[in-house]
Amino acid sequence: MTAQAYHDGLQRPPPGGRPRAYKTDGLVLRAYRMRDADRLVTVLTPSLGKLKLTVRGARRLTSKLGGHLDVLNRAHLAIAIGHTFDVVTGAESAESFAGVKADLSRLAEALYLMELADLLLPEAAPHPAAYALLLDALRALEAGRSPVSVARHTELGLLRDAGFMPELHSCVMCRREIEPERHRYVAAMGGVVCDECPAPASGVLPLSVDALKVLRHFAERGVAEASQVALSGVVRDELETALGASVRYVLEREPHTAGFVERVAHLRERGA
Ligand SMILES: [Zn+2]
Repeated sequence: MTAQAYHDGLQRPPPGGRPRAYKTDGLVLRAYRMRDADRLVTVLTPSLGKLKLTVRGARRLTSKLGGHLDVLNRAHLAIAIGHTFDVVTGAESAESFAGVKADLSRLAEALYLMELADLLLPEAAPHPAAYALLLDALRALEAGRSPVSVARHTELGLLRDAGFMPELHSCVMCRREIEPERHRYVAAMGGVVCDECPAPASGVLPLSVDALKVLRHFAERGVAEASQVALSGVVRDELETALGASVRYVLEREPHTAGFVERVAHLRERGA
């Protein structure tokens, strides 16, 4: 199958339209076990948004499809229109990110980003920017870039793509430009608040000038540049706390993999 053929088959036909099948690339965000040996996968595509697809017999050892559709894989997919979910009829992995999967720190951040994309991005809408963002993140992790920088940069980008970009320049209350050292971060209010405006009794987070500068830099740059910034321990913690609070506020809960990332980081600190 040539790249052009995939490109030609990219548009999913409208329901009831004559074509019964289509082709697309997809990044596997999540996989769920289903009855028998079937698997349900959530993939993010370049132009069709997020799709939930059935992979029949994926968990059988003899499955020709299953191995190509592991979480974190980018695969070329052939898909047939189904009743509840469309069905994968052909899959060939294009990138499998073996280096990421072999390293616990990188794997933890990558799985967190996949879950975040799955939770933040609505279905039935294209998310080309998020697709590019996640792929860039996986490639940066594979190339050995700092997992923490890649994760925070991508987290911010996903928040933006989902329509929840935190305000980083003007006070969200009075709209005045933020002056150095005279601000705090309030996730529930959507970003930075100046020190003259009232803030809620809880959820007010400190954000140093350095951390704010890094966030602004992340917002303007791609992951390759963003992941070259050396983060101090304080800045790293502030970014994780502030963006984590924004994610929890938007989702109204903690992503499952966030705890996993924390436990892996803790193990590393203990030298395990
Ligand atoms: Zn203000």
